[in-house]
Amino acid sequence: MSTATLLPCPNLIDNEWSTPLTAEFAYVHNPSSGDVIAKVPMCGAKEVDAAVASAVRAFPDWMETPPIERARVLFRYKALLEDHFEDLARSITTEHGKTMTEARGDVRRGIEVVEYACGAPELLKGESLENIARGIDCHTIRQPVGVCVGICPYNFPALVPMWMYPMALACGNTFIFKPSEKVPLTGIYLIELLVEAGLPKGVLNIVHGGKEAVDRLLKHPDVNAVSFVGASKTAKYIFETGTSHGKRVQAAGGAKNFVFVLPDADFDKAVPGMIDGAFGCAGQRCMAASTAVVVGGAQDAFIPPLEAATREIKVGPTDRDQDAGMGAVITREHLERIEGLIGVAEKEGARISVDGRGTKVENAGSGFYLGPTIIDEVEDGMRIVGEETFGPVLNVMRFADLESALESANRQAYGNGACIFTSSGKAAREFSHGVKAGMVGVNVGVPAPLAYFPFSGWGYSFFGDLHVQGKEGVYFYTRQKVVTSRWFRPDEGEIWHKD
Ligand code: NAD
Repeated sequence: MSTATLLPCPNLIDNEWSTPLTAEFAYVHNPSSGDVIAKVPMCGAKEVDAAVASAVRAFPDWMETPPIERARVLFRYKALLEDHFEDLARSITTEHGKTMTEARGDVRRGIEVVEYACGAPELLKGESLENIARGIDCHTIRQPVGVCVGICPYNFPALVPMWMYPMALACGNTFIFKPSEKVPLTGIYLIELLVEAGLPKGVLNIVHGGKEAVDRLLKHPDVNAVSFVGASKTAKYIFETGTSHGKRVQAAGGAKNFVFVLPDADFDKAVPGMIDGAFGCAGQRCMAASTAVVVGGAQDAFIPPLEAATREIKVGPTDRDQDAGMGAVITREHLERIEGLIGVAEKEGARISVDGRGTKVENAGSGFYLGPTIIDEVEDGMRIVGEETFGPVLNVMRFADLESALESANRQAYGNGACIFTSSGKAAREFSHGVKAGMVGVNVGVPAPLAYFPFSGWGYSFFGDLHVQGKEGVYFYTRQKVVTSRWFRPDEGEIWHKD
């Protein structure tokens, strides 16, 4: 393979872009064609240490910068993101493979976090109470935690990093961004715009790489907080390693989301809701609908139209074909892993009612395509029930009643999202109250909360206390101080009373 024409992926340190002379590189693919498009340096301790040192130098001045001035950088950034909106979406489609519509959603939801972070002066206000005792007042202050790190997955190249750095910076922290080595180009583009918006040097640095870079960041004595999003096994490792080295850590992991369909559901809404949830972004979403839980009489009314609509989905090269409804998955290894899991389900007795394996797409080189797949007659205990596939694969589990369906869903280790389609307020209420998941939808598909609410996984889907987004994001990126004060008249040394 000739590497001469590949796009470089420089690090950013002190607002200078440079590609380190590290020996090893990883290769970035366009999943739609299988072509290699960029090479990314797998950095180690030397580059990480330089980035951390830069962030440490920049911290005191950025912390003292008034919140409104920090917000002004973000206001300018928001305008630049809008100007570059289509090109950012195209960058995502090229390196990730999702459709342009999905890529636009990725950028839009990220911009909404920037808009939220622009409210820094309001968000950072503390509380106060006078006269907690006679002549004594008390107030709280929120201060930045210091040098923060963001370690990102591949599936939302814009949104997930933007869950992290806009809020961290608005709160007065400096930040080190470690993009996914599978989709580094959009991250670089996002930060080029941030520099253009006027971010002072060292306030945000980028270091590319994988485990070696991450391990150095997790153990570095000058790193104060770590935000991670990725697979649960990695999330658990990041949480345990980071906290044992004294860092504040929030680590969001994988998922297996259950979507319930009751006999009284509006099937005209439930079918497209399920299709979008299961096959949007080729199923590579932590909020994907992974299992359709079909209860009682819903089975005959819901499953045949679901299968028919699944067969209608047009799989194609999203970078060229605007009509493609679903793109490729991220890598050939990932494609083979998903196909392997479908094979295991078949061996364990499930029925593949719509089989996307071996899907051929014309004029798409050797892209990584798997057609949308439905696995029916899935039962508790099968590997496909508990293991995240992270591809366009929907399980169907059939239950006689809501109670037994809920019991089964609540036995699973993950607890990210869950949803119900029903016209019964009572059933929806029982479901919302009883399901063991952090984000619940009623007649809306698996809902990813917007910027001003926390992204709130439970169980094996999240490690830590404070989630990303909303006020929890503000709390994660700040430390609280409580100031209790009493003032004396200088010459008397005691509380001064006028009367
Ligand atoms: P991943 O865990 O493989 O990688 C995520 C990041 O961790 C990357 O930057 C990678 O370089 C780094 N990394 C990987 N292995 C590591 C190791 N052993 N030690 C240290 N660092 C390591 O995840 P991915 O495949 O890029 O992303 C898909 C996963 O992310 C899915 O499981 C998905 O559910 C999850 N995800 C979760 C959420 C959420 O909010 N819960 C959101 C998006 C994605």
